[in-house]
Amino acid sequence: MTARIIDGKIISAELRARVAAEVARLKTEHGITPGLAVVLVGNDPASEVYVRSKHKQTQEAGMASFEHRLPADVPQAELMALIAKLNADPAVHGILVQLPLPKGLDSNAVIDAIDPAKDVDGLNPTNAGRLASGLFALTPCTPLGSIIMAKTVHASLEGMNALVIGRSNLVGKPLVQLLLNENATVTIAHSRTRDLPALCRQADLVFAAVGKAEMVKGDWIKPGATVIDVGINRTPGKDGGKDKLLGDVAFAEAKEVAGAITPVPGGVGLMTVACLLVNTVRAACAIHGLPKPAV
Ligand code: NDP
Repeated sequence: MTARIIDGKIISAELRARVAAEVARLKTEHGITPGLAVVLVGNDPASEVYVRSKHKQTQEAGMASFEHRLPADVPQAELMALIAKLNADPAVHGILVQLPLPKGLDSNAVIDAIDPAKDVDGLNPTNAGRLASGLFALTPCTPLGSIIMAKTVHASLEGMNALVIGRSNLVGKPLVQLLLNENATVTIAHSRTRDLPALCRQADLVFAAVGKAEMVKGDWIKPGATVIDVGINRTPGKDGGKDKLLGDVAFAEAKEVAGAITPVPGGVGLMTVACLLVNTVRAACAIHGLPKPAV
């Protein structure tokens, strides 16, 4: 039997609709319009695409969207001054600096400078530490989206064996914390892990966040397991055709063994921006001392 496909298009659309409903409620009940500021430095084509999509979806959800574009050779001090201005702006509840920054800019200093209450990317060490301590935190969007997808298959992840492949601050580490909060039993693998296929075969839930096209093979998957593929690997199309996006999982093989699996494209990638909207609404509520919203 082939796996159920976990459809990012449907799940992210539902999530965005729930965000829009919360935004409408915040406006009518409290006169608050959640606002997201996105800072784009330079003109990396992939970053341009992401920023356009964030702007469009923010507006569609009824939120205020502020875009700030700076040249690639902007001095660090000027970028830091913009962050300070956005930190102080009451119309801005979420600040996202599109990464990676051009060479010569210190992204850690920028991430550190963002007010943790407005850090909708969840990368500020205060939020990472709060998440690890089990406190309220703004959490990175891709791990949040990955958990939401897994929970469309399993209402509870309690006691499940989860394997996270990848230990970046952006994906792997926060995913581990979120899975612990769900009471899963978590293993984290990385480039020095021994016998990854054997480890993978024990997992009820596999989260692949490596950045290596189709690394996780079909025969690594435990029959019936749920596979969440975070990877986005751009590979040149054949004969000069359009570039192809591949995940970290060999989808065609894995879907013959897994119980449920996310596709690439059409999977986790779509959840990331939807979760950015979720974080902006959560940030707006926290900043105004309101209870956590229903998203
Ligand atoms: P990083 O490069 O920061 O981290 C990759 C991780 O994979 C590292 O921890 C590395 O281990 C581990 N790794 C590398 N090779 C192997 C291997 N052979 N076996 C096991 N582990 C290995 O990547 P990110 O976490 O930023 O991103 C991971 C993937 O997710 C990428 O494809 C990226 O494009 C995608 N992504 C998708 C998003 C989305 O919206 N869907 C958002 C963000 C990322 P070590 O630490 O030892 O070096």
